[in-house]
Amino acid sequence: MNCPFCKADPVPAKEIICRKCREEIFYYKGFRCRYCGNRLLYDSGSCPECFGKKKSYNAFYNLGYYDRMLGDIIIRMKFRENISLGKALGALAAEHLEKLGVEYDVILPVPLSPGRFHERGFDQTLEIAKAMKKRTGRKVMDFVIGKTDIPPLVGKNRAERADIMRKAFFAKRGLEKVEGLNVLALDDVCTTGATMNAFTKLIRRYGPLRITAYVIARK
Ligand SMILES: [Zn+2]
Ligand SMILES: [Zn+2]
Repeated sequence: MNCPFCKADPVPAKEIICRKCREEIFYYKGFRCRYCGNRLLYDSGSCPECFGKKKSYNAFYNLGYYDRMLGDIIIRMKFRENISLGKALGALAAEHLEKLGVEYDVILPVPLSPGRFHERGFDQTLEIAKAMKKRTGRKVMDFVIGKTDIPPLVGKNRAERADIMRKAFFAKRGLEKVEGLNVLALDDVCTTGATMNAFTKLIRRYGPLRITAYVIARK
């Protein structure tokens, strides 16, 4: 089988992608902010933006960073190839969480707003979640949180983003089932963490045991 990412090199047995792509996806070996994944020069635990701020999740992890191959994969997924790339990303995420020893009972993907879903035709975070389910057997709880159509966050500062995001998510029937569970909140891309924080803040109100925030590509 050829690698789903580069389409060139063979995938070794029991692997998801080829060796070269694996090195490229996991190129960053340095310190990261434990609240948002921001790359750090020193092992200071938190980046300046997160320092002293309360988060709605218990832990944060990211598969990789948007700046190199992973960013291209996300873009390719957006415009085509969503199935094969989503499968590979979901499998890599499941494997990564297993290596990290993260326990989770259910996966809650950050939803797209109806407008965004309509223009794109599919929801790539949901595709990744489904692939994770296939590999781990964990349940995906989609459609328990809705998203309203919000103005684009591009060009907005941190405070403006947080304010917009505060009103973005709403609970639907079934969210109460997270009570007492270990929740994995999943998003494909993260820029400032405002989306993830708003999303998990809503989940938090329904009494989960723990929330782990997980992002595929941190910008
Ligand atoms: Zn490859
Ligand atoms: Zn941070």
